[in-house]
Amino acid sequence: MGIIIKSPPEIDIMRQAGRIVAAILDVLKKRIEPGIITEELDAITARELSRHGAISSFKGYRGFPANLCVSINDELVHGIPGKRVLEEGDIVSLDCGAVFQGFHGDAALTVGVGRISSQAEVLLKVTEGALGAGIAAARSGARLGDISAAIQSFVESRGLSVVREYVGHGIGRQMHEDPQIPNFGPPGQGPLLQKGMTLALEPMVNAGGWRTKVSSTGWTVTTANGSLSAHFEQTIAITDGEAEILTKLD
Ligand code: MG
Ligand code: MG
Repeated sequence: MGIIIKSPPEIDIMRQAGRIVAAILDVLKKRIEPGIITEELDAITARELSRHGAISSFKGYRGFPANLCVSINDELVHGIPGKRVLEEGDIVSLDCGAVFQGFHGDAALTVGVGRISSQAEVLLKVTEGALGAGIAAARSGARLGDISAAIQSFVESRGLSVVREYVGHGIGRQMHEDPQIPNFGPPGQGPLLQKGMTLALEPMVNAGGWRTKVSSTGWTVTTANGSLSAHFEQTIAITDGEAEILTKLD
């Protein structure tokens, strides 16, 4: 397929898609408290998507059955909302994708449910910081590997592990476009970053080792050793200067 450079009008639509995703995550974040059932979060997402004239990027994607991914504690991605009830001390990753006027926005965050352990607090801070480090490295003229290396070194210098099997991606008319964006690897390699590239950066960080496994349902991915995992994601556009975050509120 190759990397697809977007025109300014296309990026403007992606900005709108991104704003919808950010608005939905903001609504969801405020609903996170002990006792909420994860399928309620899915229902809120469905309602908010339709209110904004958007549809879920995920529902029906390779058969995924929900509008939102909800992944709890040792689950890192692709958790399916259902009857599970959030409990005090859990950490929950919310991954939301929206299609608006033919373009996707994709973002995720991990939040604590009530009071969480100091270990979990550190994990959340480091994962969000790693995303920030990746975004800071995403400048035109740099290489894709500079993003990967920035994320990896941010995480590993703080004693945590970055997941290898799941990666960030280009995004546009398709949720997953070229290039793949690993959260590890050497700097100075890979495609040159150019204005008009739109990328979803998404570090997944484990408190224990980096290995993961897929549950018997075929969807939910957990850490191999049961350690906690966190996930932060944003869709960005490469510009002449600092990258523009598309999945943000005004
Ligand atoms: Mg996502
Ligand atoms: Mg993504």
